[in-house]
Amino acid sequence: MDLKQAKTHLAQKNNDVREEKVEYKTGQVLDDRNRAGKKRPWQKKKLENIRYAEYLKILEFKKEFKVKECAEVLNYQIDESGQAKLYQVYFCKSRLCPLCNWRRAIKSSKQLEMILTNAVLDYPQAQFLFLTLTTKNVFGKENLKVELAKMGRAVAKLMQYKKVKKNVLGYVRSTEITVSKDGSYNQHMHVLVMVKASFFNDKENYITQKEWRSLWQKAMKLDYDPRVFVEKVSDKSGKGSLTSAAFETAKYQAKSADYLTSDDAKNLKIIDDFEYALRGTRQISYAGVLKEIHKKLHLDDAEKGDLVHADGKLEDEKQVVRIAVAKFDYIRKNYFWT
Ligand SMILES: [Zn+2]
Repeated sequence: MDLKQAKTHLAQKNNDVREEKVEYKTGQVLDDRNRAGKKRPWQKKKLENIRYAEYLKILEFKKEFKVKECAEVLNYQIDESGQAKLYQVYFCKSRLCPLCNWRRAIKSSKQLEMILTNAVLDYPQAQFLFLTLTTKNVFGKENLKVELAKMGRAVAKLMQYKKVKKNVLGYVRSTEITVSKDGSYNQHMHVLVMVKASFFNDKENYITQKEWRSLWQKAMKLDYDPRVFVEKVSDKSGKGSLTSAAFETAKYQAKSADYLTSDDAKNLKIIDDFEYALRGTRQISYAGVLKEIHKKLHLDDAEKGDLVHADGKLEDEKQVVRIAVAKFDYIRKNYFWT
């Protein structure tokens, strides 16, 4: 979706969110595909979820049981035309659960896409910037927790600075943590900023990369020059487009590849640190007109809300004929229709 497409996006009936037909036959392996024909990664994510639950058990987290049960049973509604649609699943909603993170990422990016589509319709002249704000790597869970809290407050502060405030219509920010080779953590904020057209048209308003860096340094009260990346979101589709910026913003806080490596000791340490540091934090938050649109569209919370209909609800409900159930088989390590 580029800016121009976004404008026509709403006019179309949103068919791409329809759950595609799922073949169901007792004893057969589940083959759930989206409309584009791409297989949904239930099996891969469930296998990752099992590893994550095992680590939680070793670390003596009580929620291990809850996590283990995540998406064990998938209930589909079959309508009169034979179409199957996912309608009931238990999700553990644990912050690092690979299954829940997959669903949350789909949901967040769908929601963000809807919000941006509306924002572009309401403010056709608006432009977008994609900021990545970083600080120096930290070691250990306590430092990570403190740094994340500080960064969250600093983004809000940055947006209140006079020169920033007069240009910004709204923004959405997310947090990402990656693990470096030396075991330290690199925490950074992605901020998709919606600015007035005058931001680019007027030298008085324009903020250079150097200025962003010094404003971020000031907001964070740092005694060094932090790394700050600024990208103008392009009107064209593809890399650098609004869609790719939205996708980047709606990603996970931490990717499972970082804590499900072949090194058990390392994985245990990272999971223990992340469980502690990420508790109570928000993966994604909206401000300004983007927050207003989120409210206007009555979107639920991408983190705590419904993860079953992550990629949208079917509006033209057909008569449900029966329920089909796919269950995860722990011995054969896959989902089978019961
Ligand atoms: Zn889960």
